[in-house]
Amino acid sequence: MDTSIGNALIVGGGPAGALAAKMLSDRKFNVTLVELYPDPSGSQEKRHAYVISINPRGARALRRVGIDPTTDLDCGVASYALIRNGTKANYAPKIKKMDEPHVFFRRQKLTAGLLEKAKEAGATIVYGEKLTDIDFDEKIATFESSETGKVTKRSYDLLVGADGVKSVTRTLLENRGLFDGPVRTIEDDMQYQVAVLPHWKELLCSEASVDAPDTSFQSYADRSSNTNSLSFPLPDGKTLVTFIAPSGFLDKLKKEGVESYKPALETHFSNWSDEARLELATQLAAEDNVPTNGGLCVWTPALGAPKKGVVLVGDSGHGMWPSLGQGCNAALESVSVLADAVEAVCGTDYVIPSAGAGVRKEDIWEMTSGERSCLVAEEYQGLRYDDAKAIVDLTFNGIGGRRVRGQQNGTVMFLFKLSLMTILNKVTLSIVPKPFLLRMQFGDDVPYSTLLWQGKCETMLAYFVLLAIPAFFALIMFK
Ligand SMILES: Cc1cc2nc3c(=O)[nH]c(=O)nc-3n(C[C@H](O)[C@H](O)[C@H](O)COP(=O)(O)OP(=O)(O)OC[C@H]3O[C@@H](n4cnc5c(N)ncnc54)[C@H](O)[C@@H]3O)c2cc1C
Repeated sequence: MDTSIGNALIVGGGPAGALAAKMLSDRKFNVTLVELYPDPSGSQEKRHAYVISINPRGARALRRVGIDPTTDLDCGVASYALIRNGTKANYAPKIKKMDEPHVFFRRQKLTAGLLEKAKEAGATIVYGEKLTDIDFDEKIATFESSETGKVTKRSYDLLVGADGVKSVTRTLLENRGLFDGPVRTIEDDMQYQVAVLPHWKELLCSEASVDAPDTSFQSYADRSSNTNSLSFPLPDGKTLVTFIAPSGFLDKLKKEGVESYKPALETHFSNWSDEARLELATQLAAEDNVPTNGGLCVWTPALGAPKKGVVLVGDSGHGMWPSLGQGCNAALESVSVLADAVEAVCGTDYVIPSAGAGVRKEDIWEMTSGERSCLVAEEYQGLRYDDAKAIVDLTFNGIGGRRVRGQQNGTVMFLFKLSLMTILNKVTLSIVPKPFLLRMQFGDDVPYSTLLWQGKCETMLAYFVLLAIPAFFALIMFK
């Protein structure tokens, strides 16, 4: 007897698709995942060679689906400290210790690990096929083999579009008029390049290394060139560096070759040895190390087409620039919300789902699997849409976003807000929360929509204080 809830077809085997495959298999869907590349998530792709930092938010989402990132995936490094470096000669590196770790994974290793878990849970994984078309009425998706060109059609009850920031699923939904508004996208004006250096300890600056654990990760910021980089420890003792700079700047260095990188790296990584900097410059200037754009901020009018049984998870539904390190964490969280939606509709101890108001519990199993899947999609849309939109807004407007990193510089106001909130947090013994940006970066258990609201309050408070100070002095002078 087939006891499945329905057939789930997942497009894309990145972190979101892979986790969704495990989650839906565990919850009695028949799952097929189709990935464009011929192996786990395009591991040959250089642009996928970067490190993803899973913060406590992402870790909670993974645990919700039964995976502990520190013990169940053996390819990550758990880190409890961040070292912030500056470029001024007298700048003392600052160490920020964390109660809960950030766990670092190379993107391909994370996806390969999650795909393995999905397979163990019973999902069928198909590599090397590209989604080309969807018949949303008949619920049939068409794929084309990248090697042979062979066309395969697959039917589904629930279609999960997890095909990344340039999602074909999303484009088809838009082109077929299934969104009630346009999709908005804005490209990042920063690019990144990645290099792997064979040493780690030597790159720890001497002052900071005194009490920093070996697995600290480091950030480097140089305001003069607007470059901002990160270095991460890898499980094999090597260091992965992501060098991030404005597009024009990086293109120019690349064109001029290894010598042009040297002065930039001298300011940027001032506390490194010459040998380490030369190695980095050589790798960055190598012909096949092409600067890659950070991606798109994507605002969608809905997280899929619930009435057609289609959901968007991860970057396809809420793509964002990598600047705040939230994309994958938000993607995993969306899968955990999809798990909530499935359990609300189909769980044994479910409550009446909000999306299915009017549907009696006992009628759920009288429905077709297609109708049940539509209810899941509606529930997911209701539970996740506001947060999904909020995180894209936060990335676009926040530090690291275009306004601060690029031409429209808002740094002074940003630093003022950050200092004001940090002081208020300390003097009120945490009655006033930490600045929203820190709560976000350190993965506090707060919905993104609440953080967006807090950010707006912080701005209003900052303007109020800025106006109140001159008003106060004016009052004293004219009294
Ligand atoms: C340099 C950099 C650093 C980052 N650092 C962090 C970080 O520290 N923390 C963090 O949380 N996030 C980070 N991110 C963002 C993070 O990588 C993404 O948000 C995350 O990978 C999104 O996962 P996803 O599964 O939604 O999409 P993707 O990872 O893009 O996966 C989509 C998958 O779908 C496949 N696909 C695409 N089209 C089709 C098709 N037509 N048919 C079939 N398959 C298809 C692709 O091959 C791919 O495997 C970073 C991003 C970059 C670029």
